[in-house]
Amino acid sequence: MKIGSHVSNKGSEMLAGSVMEAGSYGSNCFMTYLGAPQNTFRKPLEDLKIGEMHELLKEHNIDIKDVVVHAPYIVNLAQPNDEKRRFAVEFLTKELKTCDAIGATLMVLHPGAHVGEGPEAGIKRIAAGINEMFENTKGSKVMILLETMAGKGTECGRSFEEIKAMMDLIEDKSRIGVCLDTCHIHDGGYDIVNDYENVINEFDRIIGLKHLKVLHLNDSKNLRGTHKDRHENFGFGQIGFETLMKFANDERFRDLPKILESPYVPKDKNTSYPPYKFEIEMIRANQFNPNLKEEIVEYFESNKN
Ligand code: FE
Ligand code: FE
Ligand code: ZN
Repeated sequence: MKIGSHVSNKGSEMLAGSVMEAGSYGSNCFMTYLGAPQNTFRKPLEDLKIGEMHELLKEHNIDIKDVVVHAPYIVNLAQPNDEKRRFAVEFLTKELKTCDAIGATLMVLHPGAHVGEGPEAGIKRIAAGINEMFENTKGSKVMILLETMAGKGTECGRSFEEIKAMMDLIEDKSRIGVCLDTCHIHDGGYDIVNDYENVINEFDRIIGLKHLKVLHLNDSKNLRGTHKDRHENFGFGQIGFETLMKFANDERFRDLPKILESPYVPKDKNTSYPPYKFEIEMIRANQFNPNLKEEIVEYFESNKN
């Protein structure tokens, strides 16, 4: 099973640090940002430690094809303001070029928010922006994966139909795909808990399963259809272990990187711990552990010094 998590990319270790972190969780795939997700400051290429990254990938048996990059979520391609939209296109073009330099071929993108102009206008702007980015990076092998969104605020991509509408407007079909986030589609109203097969069939009918390239395996704190987008630890939320494991074990998704974006487990107000190593073990064992959160806190507390 290809399973890993979102990892950070901080300090001086950059991408080498990302692989080390993924390795420490026992991952065989992972997802990272190319800098802080909430800003557009980026270090120069030579500071990213790309060579070291590739050596570490070999050491940890991770294929570069299973390294997923997440575009920053503060740029908005659906933005009605022309100047800001131009900035978004330019910035994301640079991110695509960095992916090329790294050798990563999958970049997940939150499509954008229409901020009141309506989904149709938003969808058109998103597609136009992506077409421009592809034009700017001709010959690149990097795919953009539109992420299925929870529909918070004015987010575009809140239904399979909206994702499909964007894809239809994109000229280079070879470079566009989809990242399905289980928390987001649950919060968006899809009943994966009671109707797993039908939801997958609907995705196949509307978008096509062959376009699905990455899964975000997240549980949700909120009820189906609430459009909230608050992730919960694997098996501890409204989706639950059994349903999430259907995605994890589905033969049709065997070759897709499955990425956990679970919240850190809090010990108290000031301290929280990464759950990924423990969640990955639990998923591989295919057995829910209702005491996992307590065990995570205990583990880190007793290994403190
Ligand atoms: Fe995302
Ligand atoms: Fe996600
Ligand atoms: Zn989310």
